[in-house]
Parts: sequence; C-alpha cells; structure tokens
Amino acid sequence: MLKAIGASLGIAIGKALVIREEVVEVKESKVKDSKSELIRFNNAVQEAIAQLHKVIEDVKEKLGSEKAEIFEAHLCMLEDPEFIGSIQKKIENDKFNAEYSLQTIAQDTAAIFEKMDNKYMTERATDIRDVSKRVLNVLMGVKVTSIADIQEECILVAKDLTPSDTAQIDKANVLAFVTEIGGRTAHTSIIARSLELPAVVGAGKGICEIKDGDLIIVDGGEGNVIINPDKATLKDYEKRRKEFIESTHELLKYANMKSTTIDGKTVELAANIGSAGDLESVLKNGAEAIGLFRTEFLYMSKDALPTEEEQFTEYKSVLEKMNGKTVIIRTLDIGGDKKLDYLPLDEEMNPFLGYRAIRLCLDRTDIFRTQLRALVRASAYGKLKIMFPMICNLQELRMAKKILEQCKDELKSEGVAFDKDIKVGIMIEIPSAAVISDILAKEVDFFSIGTNDLIQYTLAVDRMNEKISYLYDFYHPAVLRLISLVIDNGHKAGITVNMCGEMAGDTNLIPVLLGFGLDEFSMSAASILRARKTITNSNFEKCQKLSQPILTFGDSDEIKEYIKANIKA
Ligand code: PEP
Ligand code: MG
Repeated sequence: MLKAIGASLGIAIGKALVIREEVVEVKESKVKDSKSELIRFNNAVQEAIAQLHKVIEDVKEKLGSEKAEIFEAHLCMLEDPEFIGSIQKKIENDKFNAEYSLQTIAQDTAAIFEKMDNKYMTERATDIRDVSKRVLNVLMGVKVTSIADIQEECILVAKDLTPSDTAQIDKANVLAFVTEIGGRTAHTSIIARSLELPAVVGAGKGICEIKDGDLIIVDGGEGNVIINPDKATLKDYEKRRKEFIESTHELLKYANMKSTTIDGKTVELAANIGSAGDLESVLKNGAEAIGLFRTEFLYMSKDALPTEEEQFTEYKSVLEKMNGKTVIIRTLDIGGDKKLDYLPLDEEMNPFLGYRAIRLCLDRTDIFRTQLRALVRASAYGKLKIMFPMICNLQELRMAKKILEQCKDELKSEGVAFDKDIKVGIMIEIPSAAVISDILAKEVDFFSIGTNDLIQYTLAVDRMNEKISYLYDFYHPAVLRLISLVIDNGHKAGITVNMCGEMAGDTNLIPVLLGFGLDEFSMSAASILRARKTITNSNFEKCQKLSQPILTFGDSDEIKEYIKANIKA
C-alpha cells in the first residue's frame, strides 16, 4: 500500500492507466532512399491529422467547442503547405531522415514566431512545438495518452498533472487519479475536489510500482493507494465505497438549509469555482454565493489571452446563473503552479515568491485592463464583487483600485451600463498583509483569507512539495493567530471577513473559525454539505468561548487535542 496525501475525498476501484513522460531523442542521419523516407513522413502527418480529428470530435462532445480550439489550430499547421513543404524539401533534397528534418524545421519555425512583435504570432511557437511532437511520436512509434482522449474507464497514474490537464478530465472515464508529486492545496488537488473526483497526490517514487492495467484502489480521504488488492481488501473497500456514496447522498438534506448555528448565528457558505461549468455542482450543493472565482482557469482553457468580449460573456453567464447571489471574481492569479502556455514567463528560482498574480497584472496593465473592463461590464448582470490576489502592501492595493477606477471612467464615457457601487476586496494571503490588515481594512469592502498561500508563506513551506508536506499545518499557532488578527481587524473597520482557502472546508476547524468570527466560508462545492452539517450542529457562543484559549497555545498538536476534546461539533 502507498501512503500519500489525500487530495480529494472518495473511493475508486479500477484499472490503472499510467501516463509516462516519454523522452524522445532525435538522431541526425542521411537516408539513401529519400522517396520512401518522404512517404514515411507523409504517412505520419496523415496519422497525426487523423488523431487530431478524433481528439477534436471527442473534446467538442465532452468538454465543449472552446476547449477544442487549440487542437484545431494544430490541425491547421499540419495542413499548412509552407510548413510541411519545408520539411518535405529537407527530406527530399537534403536527404535527411524524417525525424531530424521535422525537428529542425519545427525549431526554426518556432524561433521565427517567437521573435515576432505580434503577440498572437509569438504564442504560435508553442503550437508548432506541440504539433511537431505529435508527428514525431508517430514517426518514432511512441504511444502517448492525451487526457482528453481517454476512452476507457481508468484511474490515472502520473508523475504530475498540470491544472490544465486536470481540467480536461472527463469523469465518465476517469475514476480517480494518483500523482507522484504535489500537495493538498496545489491547484491540481483543488480541481479534483471541484470535480468531486477521488485523488491521492504526493505518492512519491512508489507509483513506479504501478503498471498499466493493475487493479488499484484509491482512497482519497485517507491518502491510500492499494495495488492489486487481495479478495478480502477488495471486498472491504467495495463496502467502504458504497458507504461513502450513501453518506454523501445523506448529506443532500442539508442542501436547502440555511447555515445557522443551534443558537441562531448565520454565516454564509460559498463555493470556489474555476469556470461557469462548475456551477451545476455549486447549485446542487446549495452554495449561498461564489466566494472565489479563480479566473485563471478561463485563461488556461484558451490558446491566447481571452478577449474582453470572451471574458465578459463568461462572467455574465456566472452572474446570471447565480441569480442575484453574490459572486466574488478574483482578478488573474497566474504564476506559481498555474502557467499559460501562450504567455511564457522567465524561469524563476522561487515561482511562488515571484512574478505572480497582482504583481504581473500591475506590470502588464494591458492584460489587467482587459479583465477589469470585462468585469465592470458584467457587473450590470448580477451582484459582482471584485477581489485582488496577493496584495502585499498598500501601494499595490491603491494602484489596482486606481486602474479599476480608470476602467470605470472609460466605460462610463462609452455609455456602457454597470453597477456604480461594485464592492472591492483583497485576498489576505501574504503575512505582511495580515499584519497590516488594520490599515488595509480601511481601504477595501471585504477581506478574504487565502489560507493556501498564507500557510505556505507564514511557515515557509512550499504548498506543492510533498517532502515537506508534514510541515504544512492548518493548526500551527502562528497561522491561527494571523487568522484571528485579520478577522478582528476587519471587524473593527466594519468590513466582512471571508475565507476562501481550503482550510474553510475543514470540518474540525470550522467551529474554531466560527468562534473567531469568520463571516463567510468559501470552499470546493463538494465540501459544502459537510461544512453546513458542522455549522448547523455548532453552538456559536460556545465556539466563541472555547476558541479563545487556542491563541495561547504554542504547539499545533496541543491545539488539535484541545479541539478534539472541547470543540468538535
Ligand atoms: C489561497 O491561496 O488560499 C487561495 C484561495 O488562492 P489560490 O489557492 O488560488 O492560490
Ligand atoms: Mg492564493
């Protein structure tokens, strides 16, 4: 059995599909018979075209036309006589082997695109590389699994899945996934929770034991992976799986309740989403608002920066579907573990401490303004609040607000209708912001505590690194003190304080956060009903009294014991 990090609740039993990263090394050689080499190349191109047609058809059917656009662009490249013609010439005239001819022309073409002034063209370099890799794989007989292309029921096993790989998963075929690296608050894990897909991450080199077709059990709650279980274990997990499904079903009775404690304190239970597509599960689970819309997933689903119009359409659709309920939309938070293929950023030693989120937006104001204009326009269609991520000082907040005001002025002079009183908030996810939260509170309408990052920055523990995940601790007294401080400072200034990090859905800590006075809990849709059960079984006054001593403890084990003995709902 592999013991790792439980990233998303649920039990799955199925055949493993191991995704290996194939390293293909291309050798340069000359061929005697360039005619048959040319035929070999042309056949490979035709095979790649056929693969792409199939991928496009499947992706369109399962995930919608938008997600298929990138593959359509690849198809155009394989049908481009200039690009393909130069490779054919290199084979025919210079008598180089097909693999080498393809690779050199692809590299040269990508380099030309990269140097162009036009951003759209520079972004095409990635497509050239991707599509050439597809043809190269055919030529070299390398079998690759495209996640969007999986046809049979399986459990994915991979070194890592990027957030955009995970967003392509079709739950009809993928029952769960297991990865070698990653942490509970990495975005891949967060997406698994929003898909309600069992997942175990950070399983280390142990995953090498898993072969394609092995029967495996994934227990996403306990973080266990069992490879080729014996009959008794299999029976036991089939029973547990059934019980998990039944208990999840049982929770549906909490879907239409208010989030009110036994003694009458009502808080707001909200959902975190990555796209309008997540709303079905949000509404099914009875979320009262959207506490965090991570807009970067909209950017990831495209193969170029989304236009103002595309963004406006998506934001408007979420606001309309939420039908008057609050939707907090966070401005772009790219960087860290979230990358855009078409927006290459310099390699950084510490990407989580680097050019990320609001830092990037305040530098690339062209990107920021496009998003803010789309948001302001969408505000006419519901109750929109705008939130800035990764604010670390007052200047950043003031600059972001100033640009927002400029966008509003522009739209006003263009005669566009929008909500004149859009509320603006910030994420408190950097310790410096938590420490000066009394000052920041005077300049915003709300705070939302982003514990995923706040913990990694407070404890200096990379949220992605499974080797040090034992140090990534929700219960660390420093983290709990900062949270309590931010709530108090927010309330002193008369603003609401939310939490949208994964800690908000931790049923052991919810009574403590209630006691600290948190106003809104925002989490993956799949966690809402369990959270509501905890809240409706809690006594607010008791939580208030019992949570105070926690701020005097020095050790997280002590805190866990105390909560278990005194507070757990
Ligand atoms: C957080 O940091 O807690 C948060 C909600 O933002 P993200 O997970 O997207 O970094
Ligand atoms: Mg964050």
